[in-house]
This record gives sequence, structure tokens and C-alpha cells, in this order.
Amino acid sequence: MNDLTSALVSALPDGRVITDPDVADSYARDRTFVPPGRPLGVVLARSRDDVVATLRWASEHRVPVVPRGAGTGLAGGATAVDGCVVLSLARMTAIRELVPQDEIAVVEPGVITADLDRAAREHGLMYAPDPSSYEISTIGGNLATNAGGLRCVKYGVTRDSVLGLEVVLADGRVLTTGRRTMKGVTGYDLTGLFVGSEGTLGVITAATLRLRRAPREVATIAAEFTSLRDAAAAVSAIIAAGCQPSLLELMDRTTLQAIDDWKNIGLEPSTRAMLIAQAEGSAEEMAALCETASFVATSSTPEEAAELIGIRRLAYQAKERLGQCLVEDVCVPRSALPEMITTIEEVAARHGVMIATVAHAGDGNLHPVFVFDRGLAEPPEEVWAAADEVFRAALDLGGTLTGEHGVGVLKKRWLDLETGPVVAELHRGIKQVFDPLNILNPGKAI
Ligand SMILES: Cc1cc2nc3c(=O)[nH]c(=O)nc-3n(C[C@H](O)[C@H](O)[C@H](O)COP(=O)(O)OP(=O)(O)OC[C@H]3O[C@@H](n4cnc5c(N)ncnc54)[C@H](O)[C@@H]3O)c2cc1C
Repeated sequence: MNDLTSALVSALPDGRVITDPDVADSYARDRTFVPPGRPLGVVLARSRDDVVATLRWASEHRVPVVPRGAGTGLAGGATAVDGCVVLSLARMTAIRELVPQDEIAVVEPGVITADLDRAAREHGLMYAPDPSSYEISTIGGNLATNAGGLRCVKYGVTRDSVLGLEVVLADGRVLTTGRRTMKGVTGYDLTGLFVGSEGTLGVITAATLRLRRAPREVATIAAEFTSLRDAAAAVSAIIAAGCQPSLLELMDRTTLQAIDDWKNIGLEPSTRAMLIAQAEGSAEEMAALCETASFVATSSTPEEAAELIGIRRLAYQAKERLGQCLVEDVCVPRSALPEMITTIEEVAARHGVMIATVAHAGDGNLHPVFVFDRGLAEPPEEVWAAADEVFRAALDLGGTLTGEHGVGVLKKRWLDLETGPVVAELHRGIKQVFDPLNILNPGKAI
């Protein structure tokens, strides 16, 4: 241990700091192939005071700090940089308050997303944002990436469920933003600014979150199509008809095949795409709008519905079995979904690249997953070329580079295409105000 790490160890209670390089390295990656730097050490924070002490020490010694939840991120946001300290919030797991009459919860950042949802359901409530990773991701990571999920088509993304935050700034000062009320407009919306800031502006140590009434009755359908474009057109029709689905997910043939090879779901040879849709009340109108489907199944029990949605939640792990994955995250206006889908298929064929697509289709949010050889350290040139075309097509359709995963490091080279120079300058100015020494997650997001 050198003087720097000794000073960190003395600033914190016993057992908080890992300096063993092999153990520290195991906290250096997220779920991407992005090669991590070597951290000086890892802090396993258990309280806000641990975070304050770490950031004061880091400011004093100008050491970069990489905040980390569960490391399930898909943009390289939580990957270590050389000589940093990884600040893990995963052990701050208290649900401090759950107040059913106000429909709010106050939680620490390391709470697993699904654990909060389960706690809320004991009171007839739910925590709506449910990324597919909700059994493994943390609330802190969800907040820092403004995560989306399956239910977001009805209830909005993480930002729509946040009322207030407790944040530690780079110099160790603590602030609270927002409120416990359903409304409130005092001052600038700093809560909204921290949500989605990918650990570059402050470290979130608590959040006041909005809960919703859990629906009493939901109806779920699964529709199979012999053409991906037809499935995308059915999504556009469902949205245009004002059906208000509470979940509307799409999977292409490559994804379904990967799931079938793994879990044997009885996939028909002619099926090219599947839509899974859910509505509170009846799903009849949505089923009728899937008029080009070759088969529509309606679940008659909650168990059957959970099974159908479970198939969708397996998609990412199934694709990881095919090779290394570059997971993209473009989002387009929902009427443009069929055109975007067609472009992705055409780009895959022209570059000879395997792209397996799943989509939070009700939001127009597509995850084209570019699969490449496990033996390669980085995606090969043709994958980057195909991804470049997909990004540009999404922007041309009025879309965005990232609907929910964040920019991290993987999307930085395309950022200017979407934001332009004035926004880039403002981003840098905001970063300077919050983190003048540039120690918080440097090199990420902006
Ligand atoms: C199988 C699978 C499915 C997925 N499905 C979805 C999905 O449906 N929707 C979706 O949005 N994402 C999805 N993801 C991506 C990922 O799970 C989300 O981005 C999630 O929000 C990350 O949470 P985490 O706790 O793992 O954060 P990490 O990966 O540890 O960190 C993510 C970012 O947040 C920052 N951060 C973490 N905690 C804090 C904190 N307390 N304060 C400040 N900054 C912090 C990190 O520095 C980093 O920039 C999926 C990933 C996997 C592996």
C-alpha cells in the first residue's frame, strides 16, 4: 500500500477499502467488452459518510472516482480508468422508508430494483421502472443512466418516478434536491439534471421515489409474425389506435432462435418476429390490431403471462451465448419503427454482420445487438461500420443514439452528431460547475 491508499484507508472505517489488485480488477468492468483501466483500489461504501470521506480524499489528491452500482451497464459507464478509485454503492441497500399513503419510498442506491418493487407490492403498490436487468441492477445505476424498461411505455422512464435525491458532490459537499411531494417547482430542476448524468456530476446516496398503484388485472398476448416489418407495423397501429399498452415488446428471429436453442420454447420455423403486449383490463383491441400475425396467444393466468414476459427477459443472456455483443440502444419516433427495422435488416445483410434485435417497441426503443467473435478484443471494423449506419439512420428519422443505456464511452464518438457544438459547450460548462477538478467518472458521457 502506498501513502495515497494508506490515507484513504485511514479516512474510512475498517474493511471499506480493497487494495488487492486482483480483487480490485473484478470491480473494473461493466457488461461491455470495453477494456478497463487499473484501479488503485475499491471503496465498498456503507453510508453517506463513507462517500463523503472518499470524495474529500479524492479531491485533495486529485484521484479519479468511478461510481459503481451492480456493473450491469451496457455503455462502458462504470469501467475503471487507470489510477482511479472505484466507489461501489452496492452495499448501501436500505429501504429507509416506504410510505403507502403518500405512495413514496426513500431508498439507498444499492437497493436492487426488483427488491423495491417487491417491497412496494406488499402494500398494493409497485415501483414502475423495470429494466430487463431489474433482478440484478441497482436503483443508483438506474438513476444515473435514467434506465427504461418494459413498463415504461405506460409509466415513463426512471426520471418520471424520481421526486428527490441526496447527492455528494466531488468536493464532499452534500445536497438534497427535489422533494417528497407530487409537485414542486422551486429552483432549477437539479433532480432531473442528476438523473442520467452517468456519475459525472455527483454520487447519489439516497432517492425519494414515486410508487404507483399495482394494477389489479392485466391481460397479456403474444403474437407471432412471418415478417419483422409486419410486427413493427402492428406496434405502430397499436400506438396510433390509442390502446395504452402497459408493455409492448418485440423480438426478431435471431433473438427468438437464440432463446429457443437455450430454453426450447417451441419456436415455429416460419416465425420471424414475436410481439408481447400487455394491457390493464383487456388486450382484445391489441390482439385485433395484430391482423397480419400468424398466431396470437392470450394468457389466461398470471403464471402464463409471467412465462411470456420471462421469455423476453431472457433475450440478452441468450444473445451472450452467441458471442460477444455490442448492444445498441437507438430510439425513433414510434411511427418510424417499421422503417428503422427494415434499415437494420438491410445493414446487417450488406455488412455480413449478425444483428439480433429486441425492442421496447411501444417506446420506439430498439436494441440491435451486434454479435461478434468471442476471441476478438474489440468489435471488428464491419461491426463499427454497420453500427455507424444504424446510428445515422436513427438520427435521420428524428431519433436518438441512446434511449436508456447512456453514452458511457461506447457512444461518445457519435455524440456530436446528435447534440451539436452549442450543447457540447454547455455540457462542459455544467461539468465544470459541479466537478471543477474533473475527478468524477472522467471521460464518460459527455
Ligand atoms: C441482461 C441485461 C438487461 C438490461 N436491460 C435493460 C433495460 O431494459 N433498460 C435499461 O435501461 N437498461 C438495461 N440494461 C443495462 C443496465 O442494467 C442499466 O443501465 C442499469 O441502470 C445499470 O445499473 P447498475 O446498478 O448495474 O449500474 P452500473 O453499471 O454499475 O453503473 C451505470 C452507470 O451509473 C453510474 N452510477 C452507478 N451508481 C451510481 C450512483 N449511486 N451515483 C452516481 N452514479 C452512479 C456509473 O458510474 C455508470 O456510469 C440491461 C443490462 C443487462 C445486463
